[in-house]
Amino acid sequence: MSAKISFFKSVEQYVDKAASFTDIPQGLVEQIKVCNLVLQIRFPIRVGNDYQVIEAYRVQHSHHRLPTKGGIRYAESVDQDEVMALASLMTYKCALVDVPFGGAKGGIKINPSNYTVEQLQTITRRYTTELIKKNFIGPGIDVPAPDYGTGPREMAWILDTYQAFRHGEIDSIGCVTGKPVTQNGIRGRAEATGRGVFYGIRECLSHADDMRKIGLTPGIAGKTMVVQGLGNVGSNTALISQQEGGVKVIGIAEREGSIYSPNGIDVEKLMTFRMETGSILGFPGSQHIGGPSAALELECDILVPAALENQITLENADRIKAKVIAEAANGPITADADLILQKKGIMVLPDFFINAGGVTVSYFEWLKNLSHHRFGRLENRFQHNAFVGILNKVEEMTGKQVSIRDRDFLTRGGTEVELVNSGLEDTMITAYTQVRETSLHNNNIPDLRTAAFVCSMQKIASDYISMGIFP
Ligand code: GLU
Repeated sequence: MSAKISFFKSVEQYVDKAASFTDIPQGLVEQIKVCNLVLQIRFPIRVGNDYQVIEAYRVQHSHHRLPTKGGIRYAESVDQDEVMALASLMTYKCALVDVPFGGAKGGIKINPSNYTVEQLQTITRRYTTELIKKNFIGPGIDVPAPDYGTGPREMAWILDTYQAFRHGEIDSIGCVTGKPVTQNGIRGRAEATGRGVFYGIRECLSHADDMRKIGLTPGIAGKTMVVQGLGNVGSNTALISQQEGGVKVIGIAEREGSIYSPNGIDVEKLMTFRMETGSILGFPGSQHIGGPSAALELECDILVPAALENQITLENADRIKAKVIAEAANGPITADADLILQKKGIMVLPDFFINAGGVTVSYFEWLKNLSHHRFGRLENRFQHNAFVGILNKVEEMTGKQVSIRDRDFLTRGGTEVELVNSGLEDTMITAYTQVRETSLHNNNIPDLRTAAFVCSMQKIASDYISMGIFP
């Protein structure tokens, strides 16, 4: 039996490879790579007439910027190596998209579907209490968020627990992000990761030169897509790509198996079908083509692995036929499989770029929480009045009237979700431009992942150097 490959080590290998394209001193590369703080937690909960010991972690990978930031996942796969790897990816992710945080990640080793809502609440509150005891949570210390197996409900429990211990702390609502909108969350956060994946793919496909190299025409409309995992990230990527990008979703994989339909799958209808029947199998007009990984091998333009890590490995990499892979999940491709995909000329949009939409909008939520007011509250009415004044003047000077519909559109201020989405779109386009230019200007950089690590590492290194620690 082969030993389990360390996920953290494989991230370190990527970083070492990227470091060779920079002039960052070796000692500083080591400092960038290591995890600054690792908290191992064990606590008991009562299940029926017995007790269960719960295994949990919080890892703060890098303190070069504070607070540290990253989700908390509830999954059976959780172990220290996985949480360390995911925390380190958060550091590179935040640096790449200019979100001024260090990286962190938390994990509880449970399958949430084995617990009642009350038990999950007990586990979440107890975990939060441990974080508070160890000073591992706070708006200026470490700010958790949702990840695999968690969502706004868990974030609300975390906030409530934190506030119970930190009564009167003025910025306490910024101790966690991804909260329900009614509890100081922000509109657009729930779909932010999937929406960011869409913006990133769209931007990548817009460059005619790059597309020619992989045999694609430029533009996202009409391209075929296969998605593995219909959780928050996968479902929003598929829905938004279909509805706003005109993409044809031809394959979907979930726990119960893979389905294929060359004419396209209506993702919204599929989601309703799965809710009603508990499965994607049997969806009208689709074929059942095999287990959860069968869809990965379909011929398509864009493949989106949006489930867990280690999905494309040495075992199946040779059979992957996509032109572009967008790593919506964290670490879905193993390092050895990545080399095979590169040789096959497949373009990989690396996880810590393509799924950065979640933490980007978390940053907007945190800013909203610290400013204690909703975006647009101060300036919307002022802008509206100014635009009305300009339109009145234009009408007066031209003697022509603007229609009521145009007038409404031209004079209103952006809503919260419009501002969030435009900030997210700009962030993803800017980050892709940086990665693309870094790879173009360094002929030796073989792939976008290495180029993205180079971008992030240069920013982190310059932060350390400006602290005066490294000359
Ligand atoms: N869990 C998400 C990620 O892996 C979001 C993290 C956050 O919003 O802090 O990027």
